[in-house]
Amino acid sequence: MDFNTTLLHHNFESERSTGSTLTPIYQVSAFSQESAEKLEAVFNNRAPGFAYTRIGNPTTDSFERRIASLEKGIGAIACSSGMAAVTMSLLNILQSGDEVIASTALFGGTIDLFHDLEAFGIKTRYVTEVTAESVRSQLSDKTKAVFTELIGNPKLNVVDIQSVADVAHEAGVPLIVDSTTATPYLVHPFDFGADIVVHSSSKYINGNGSAISGIIVDSGKFKWDYTKYKGLEEYKRFSKFAYLAKLRNGVWRNIGCCLAPATAFLNSLGLETLGLRMERLCDNALQLAEFLQGFEGIKVNYPALKGNPYYDLVQKQFNGKGGAIISIDAGSKEKAFKLINNLKYATIATNIGDLRTLVIHPDSTIFTHSTKLQKENAGVFEGSIRISVGIEDIADLKEDFEQAIKQIS
Ligand SMILES: *Cc1c(COP(=O)(O)O)cnc(C)c1O
Repeated sequence: MDFNTTLLHHNFESERSTGSTLTPIYQVSAFSQESAEKLEAVFNNRAPGFAYTRIGNPTTDSFERRIASLEKGIGAIACSSGMAAVTMSLLNILQSGDEVIASTALFGGTIDLFHDLEAFGIKTRYVTEVTAESVRSQLSDKTKAVFTELIGNPKLNVVDIQSVADVAHEAGVPLIVDSTTATPYLVHPFDFGADIVVHSSSKYINGNGSAISGIIVDSGKFKWDYTKYKGLEEYKRFSKFAYLAKLRNGVWRNIGCCLAPATAFLNSLGLETLGLRMERLCDNALQLAEFLQGFEGIKVNYPALKGNPYYDLVQKQFNGKGGAIISIDAGSKEKAFKLINNLKYATIATNIGDLRTLVIHPDSTIFTHSTKLQKENAGVFEGSIRISVGIEDIADLKEDFEQAIKQIS
């Protein structure tokens, strides 16, 4: 099956009992069983079935199975937000005293989360570029995970997954990647050695900007050392499913960050057009980036542009696709604001991955609480504008940006 066929058919069938062609929204809190014995079996993972929506729901289950197969993983767990997915993917294996190695160019919310985790004794060691060498230099016997985005948001730096995975594995540590901006259309991170993938499915997977959600997928390939990851020992009997079993029976269920069934439905619907949308979005982004390069006073950052430092890696790892986010620098805050305000079609909003083109001035919004150094390390400057390119007709986008830029120069 190729990509679009997978999206429609893999791990998906119409509902047997009714013939319903989509998995309906099971808008309930609880599921009854025919006997106390059956409910006991379901509760204790000895029989398939559902008990309570915080722990499992057929609509959510269908979404999880589709994402798991799309990412070539052994299973997936959906969460109430991308941040919940990032948090749960880590808390499932971390304890006080542990360290994480992460990129300084992460999504702002994730950097804030790492700060919050310090109160629980979990420390993050940052590297400005996630490479084999930088990760190796930060490894210690306390390191329990390496965490990175594949295309940093908004720095748009690209990580060479295989080389970083190799270093992590030598140290007996899993590589957890946030693949939100790359999407499964650009890359299957497990093919390059990543162990856990997380997504903010609020973005390209949902695709319509209609709901917040996240998801965690496990490759099932990482060899957990149960003396090092003590919390997993209890789940040893699940062998390659130990990580997912612990998550579903432990911190994910107990913190209660389950995905609402209605959102799972919207995500499954959006997922079916992920390939079509990404094809168009990447195409639009490349054309717009090339076009914007032609204007004096505008610096353009897009990984699939010839001359970009990540160009070769994009060819090798992402099949030449650069994703749908462009970052430009207009030179100053004043110019950036004016440019943004002059755009006719771009929506001024903090989201990415919508059908519509979205723009934001990161310095004054999503990075407003960051230090100057943190901003620089994340590729955020006074004149930076992040563009989440939409599916509008490229001629309209070009014309719109052209008239807006002309008004500031
Ligand atoms: C949006 C985003 C998140 C957080 O996801 P939410 O669904 O907003 O909680 C995490 N990582 C990346 C790369 C994102 O773009």
